[in-house]
Amino acid sequence: MTNEEKPLLSLRGVKRIYTSGDQKIEVLHGIDLDVHKGELVAIIGASGSGKSTLMNIIGCLDKPSEGEYLIDGVSIKTLHSDDLAALRRNYFGFIFQRYHLLSHLSAAGNVEIPAIYAGMGSSARQSSARALLERLGLGDKADHRPSQLSGGQQQRVSIARALINGGQVILADEPTGALDTKSGREVIRILKELNAAGHTVIIVTHDPGIASHAGRIIEIRDGNVIDDRINENMTDPLSPEDADSCQQDETPDLKLSAFGALSAAVSRFREAFKMAWIAMVSHRMRTLLTMLGIIIGIMAVVSVVALGKGASKKVTDNISAMGTNTISIFPGKDWGDVRANRIQSLSVYDLEALRNEIYVDSVTPSVNSNVVIYYKSEEASGQINGVSDQYNQVKGIKLAKGHFINRDHVRELAQVAVIDDNTRKKFFPQENPLGKIIILGKLPCVVIGVTEKEDSPFGNPDALKVYIPYTSAIYRVTGDNHLSSIVVRVKDGWSNAVAEQQITNFLTIRHNAKDIFTSSSDTILKTIQETTGTMTLLVSCIAVISLVVGGIGVMNIMLVSVTERTKEIGIRMAVGARKSDILQQFLIEAVLVCIIGGVLGILCSYMISMIFSYFVHSMSMVFSVFSIVAAVVCSTMIGVIFGYLPAKNAAKLDPIVALARE
Ligand code: ADP
Ligand code: MG
Repeated sequence: MTNEEKPLLSLRGVKRIYTSGDQKIEVLHGIDLDVHKGELVAIIGASGSGKSTLMNIIGCLDKPSEGEYLIDGVSIKTLHSDDLAALRRNYFGFIFQRYHLLSHLSAAGNVEIPAIYAGMGSSARQSSARALLERLGLGDKADHRPSQLSGGQQQRVSIARALINGGQVILADEPTGALDTKSGREVIRILKELNAAGHTVIIVTHDPGIASHAGRIIEIRDGNVIDDRINENMTDPLSPEDADSCQQDETPDLKLSAFGALSAAVSRFREAFKMAWIAMVSHRMRTLLTMLGIIIGIMAVVSVVALGKGASKKVTDNISAMGTNTISIFPGKDWGDVRANRIQSLSVYDLEALRNEIYVDSVTPSVNSNVVIYYKSEEASGQINGVSDQYNQVKGIKLAKGHFINRDHVRELAQVAVIDDNTRKKFFPQENPLGKIIILGKLPCVVIGVTEKEDSPFGNPDALKVYIPYTSAIYRVTGDNHLSSIVVRVKDGWSNAVAEQQITNFLTIRHNAKDIFTSSSDTILKTIQETTGTMTLLVSCIAVISLVVGGIGVMNIMLVSVTERTKEIGIRMAVGARKSDILQQFLIEAVLVCIIGGVLGILCSYMISMIFSYFVHSMSMVFSVFSIVAAVVCSTMIGVIFGYLPAKNAAKLDPIVALARE
């Protein structure tokens, strides 16, 4: 102990004033103190005398309110909070009365924390941690949780943590305060060994018995140093061979320069990720509840979009099956013409004339009438559809049995009928309907064909439909030779718009007046697509609102989580975490919660679609890669946006205040 040497730690007139409300309490009243390299100092004093306050200042957990604190000649006043974190991490090793280990990490995991923040590579870190635990007699306890260790063992873990980055100056605040005599003696022995190995050690205690081990005893009373003496008769001096055994153990020195700053940052990020994961897994219930909002939100968005897409696809498919290149012609000026029922501007002659136009592929009228259908003793109400021989071509109808009405049937007003699948099921569940005679109202007809089952988006899917030649329908059933509509299939290569114009011109000239109007399936399709698009957008908006609500939920629970884990944050800061490390960890946690919530939401949505397809056969939910990617991106963003505030709150915490929280 050469006092001429420049002191390692030097306090000059250090005061610490706490302000609680508008009261100012001065706890340290101008402390002057020098500590030299290699000293073993005991700070002794009654409870409440200001020992911990002084120790926190020495360990850079706290700053003096007044006065100077110099470390190796550098005033800490000039240092940034990250520089102070670096000092805590690389220079000091703090040992607390209550160990302050993180309960969800193993002993080795706890020891590694300061090294993680220092950017040490993972294999070097793990072997260092294990070597230190081994050296402190805990080689077989490396994977135990703090709760599985005795107080003395926990304190040894915390000593290992103080040493992993070197721990040139070991600061022990009542290290034996919570221990039984035997474990306490063991801890003191270790501290003395470390001192012998070259570490500067400062022990705070209220126990003179412990202080008697130190080479120098500083006594504090009510915030003043009242005594500072060399302890001439140190008890239980370290035996030479003990000192040797310690000396040969090199303290692992910090090799940050060996790793690039970038790879250190990457490794820190990876560790933050791992820690976030461990924190999440060790609080499963809370994590799940946090996720719930996101799960529901994402599930709603993905399901709604998939339903919308499914509905839209269904309608589009139906219309495409019906033919996108058909044009319907109606009597009257436009939809909603009040005289439309009385207008008799579409006649069977128009139909024959249109048949020969070059842009026409096929054409059919539609003459509808509701009748009672009889077969043997059965009867049921159904719909007669008077059509041309080209109807199946226009509408794209396929026959399951027999053949369709032909040109001769039309010309001869034949009493033939093509029945649909519903009618077949009703009257001919077992027998072959072909050749049988059914009675449509009063008109007996021979069944010549059966159509395949069709699922039309329009009209009643269970209605019985019977197709007969339109001539038969007009002259034998309705007695009205005016048509309510004509449907034209446009030839390939002709655009609907052009054909529509041609038809309008053609019929206007024929009738000497524009007394018809047309409607193209193309336009209907577009309208429907637009409508479903709008619906999807609308419902998605609602779902997005639910996501925002979910995000606020995440923020809320993250804020609670930060409050709950204030102690953990304090410990991390005390062992050298930067503000950015804390920010990063909580942000990663929030994002992780949201992403996992998002993925679970997508899975739930898939499950819903499976249940949905079990009950609803006519349509299915359509998932797009886009909506899933969007959902994941969306949940990540929610994590970042709503996690930022809690993470920032966590990073803002004062280490001393955070540590004091139980
Ligand atoms: P010791 O460690 O010697 O028992 P402390 O340094 O913990 O004493 O506390 C010294 C005095 O400072 C005590 O009277 C205590 O009440 C007070 N004190 C400690 N921390 C705070 C604080 N954050 N705000 C107000 N007073 C405090
Ligand atoms: Mg104390």
